[in-house]
Amino acid sequence: MKKALVCGAGGFIGGHLVEKLKAEGYWVRGVDIKAHEFRTSSADEFLQLDLRRPENCWAALSTAGGTFDEVYQLAADMGGMGFIHSAECDIMHNSALINIYMIDIAVKLGVPRYFFSSSVCVYRDMQPGEPEMTEAEAIPANPDNEYGWEKLYAERIAQAYARHNPIEVRIARFQNCYGPYGTWTGGREKAPAAMCRKIAEVEDGSTIEVWGDGSAIRSYTYVGDMVDGIYLLMQSDLEGAANIGCPQYVTVDELVATVAKVAGKTIHVKHIEGPVGVQSRNFSNARIYSLGWQAKVFLEEGIRYTYPWIESQVKAARM
Ligand code: NAD
Repeated sequence: MKKALVCGAGGFIGGHLVEKLKAEGYWVRGVDIKAHEFRTSSADEFLQLDLRRPENCWAALSTAGGTFDEVYQLAADMGGMGFIHSAECDIMHNSALINIYMIDIAVKLGVPRYFFSSSVCVYRDMQPGEPEMTEAEAIPANPDNEYGWEKLYAERIAQAYARHNPIEVRIARFQNCYGPYGTWTGGREKAPAAMCRKIAEVEDGSTIEVWGDGSAIRSYTYVGDMVDGIYLLMQSDLEGAANIGCPQYVTVDELVATVAKVAGKTIHVKHIEGPVGVQSRNFSNARIYSLGWQAKVFLEEGIRYTYPWIESQVKAARM
């Protein structure tokens, strides 16, 4: 039986990845600084560890009778645009420490295969209608925020270790990911979860506030598709970063309209000042497509899987 370590298993994508690896027949250790907020992890073992400390990375990566076959590093100090623009020092400090220690100790313990979760935040801002950007076009770099710079550094440290040591590194640059069992309130939630929450909280015919003018263009990838892509990439020979994203691009206003439709509510939007992030996104998925991956769940279907869960959380929080 293959052994996998999932760091960030108490979080949104890491939690779904644990389920995926269990379904694939792995023995799984999950590690996170906190337990999963929304469900009991099905990991065979779950260790609560602060991975900013090297001794905790040793504990996470050490296993009786050999090494982990696969290490998935998803732990990060992470949030939506509001968090990314306010917690710059925490992101640069905490996530960098995790990534510096994890790859170094993984190499020292002889881990053969290591996955790092990067982000499309490594790319510069784009204008609507620009041709698709490929992975190579992240350099010369000009990310919009410090979160993107940290991801770029973490990609490069992992790749440097792979050039000098017997470890295979796989890197995915995730588009915005959404689905059930993710942060939906508290300031770290991302746009799809925030819109689901705002609409679940109000009556039919109400007005919700949305940061920016609503024209920013994004693609949103359903978490089930994302973990399928992560797994496929990890099993592959594809070196270098690979974008993983749904090819459906929508404006923020279209996201709101989709959530309102799924909720069965008429919702009016008041655009207000706020941290919007980049204006546009348009990335090539050719590298991940070359492995046979394609997004199966487009936005409306994914919101149909996500909205009822967030609505139930909103209702439970009121009780
Ligand atoms: P998340 O915040 O739900 O999960 C990250 C987990 O890391 C959290 O559970 C957190 O507790 C844990 N963590 C933070 N600091 C830690 C520490 N010091 N020690 C141990 N664990 C620690 O976020 P997510 O959405 O599941 O994201 C997973 C990964 O994917 C992250 O690396 C993130 O940057 C990346 N990513 C996510 C998206 C997205 O849209 N969700 C997009 C691009 C990239």
